[in-house]
Amino acid sequence: MQTDAFVLEDVTITLPSVDGDPLMAVNDVSFRVKSSEFLTIVGPSGCGKSTLLNAMSGLIAPSHGKVLCGNDSPVECLPTIGYISQADTLLPWYSVLDNVALGLRFRGFSKKQRYAEARQFLHQMGLSNYETLYPHELSGGMKKRVSIARTLALKPSILLLDEPFAPLDAFTKETLQEDLLNLWDDMNLTIVYVTHDLSEAIFLSDRVLLMHGAPGNIKAEFPITLPRPRHYHSLKFTEDFITLETSIRSMLSQSEQTEKVGVVV
Ligand code: ADP
Ligand code: MG
Repeated sequence: MQTDAFVLEDVTITLPSVDGDPLMAVNDVSFRVKSSEFLTIVGPSGCGKSTLLNAMSGLIAPSHGKVLCGNDSPVECLPTIGYISQADTLLPWYSVLDNVALGLRFRGFSKKQRYAEARQFLHQMGLSNYETLYPHELSGGMKKRVSIARTLALKPSILLLDEPFAPLDAFTKETLQEDLLNLWDDMNLTIVYVTHDLSEAIFLSDRVLLMHGAPGNIKAEFPITLPRPRHYHSLKFTEDFITLETSIRSMLSQSEQTEKVGVVV
């Protein structure tokens, strides 16, 4: 039987704001993430997706309700969670190799061990020839690959990714999406992925949660049973893919319309 990697129950998150009035970013959200699942949270900008991931990574605590990682708090699970946030977090004064080895340094690995591990993950991400370069010498796609290699070098069992490929061109994005699916499979990862791109969500996931509103909550859940392995170009023009995308998109636009006229759904 599959266990739950995460359990969120009645989670409300209120954040402080500069004008003094607290802002409710997430309102009464409950869902579970199964172990080895690829779950994607999709929704418009500002609906609280990043705030939810911050709570799942232990960076912030919910104001109400609970977030559990297995049976523990996310902070207790930290060694098993890899979090790739929206921000570019590579250190500009470190080479590619040193950026990837950085987390291993904090875990107490010797220089020889951390370089050996880092090189293995750089190889896996197709970056072996770039280890001496600095972040400003890399393309956007290469920077993302370095971030992923750095996170995977810590051998997480859970990966949280916040719009990792949003700024990239379509071709690079599709290649990285397929690479991510291979890593998920090879490393038996549990992935929680955030995006505002519906076709990306459908292509990658076992299940899509649609968020809406401000404060955000879960509007609907869509199981994605498209066969794997998936290849973007052969899948995105299939009838099943288009039907799914159409039904999620129509649900999304319904909730946007409802919000515009101020009706509570
Ligand atoms: P999304 O990732 O879906 O675009 P966010 O989770 O970033 O949305 O933001 C949800 C709401 O919370 C927004 O109104 C945003 O302005 C607000 N918010 C996000 N982070 C903070 C913060 N650190 N302090 C105060 N308000 C925040
Ligand atoms: Mg965000």
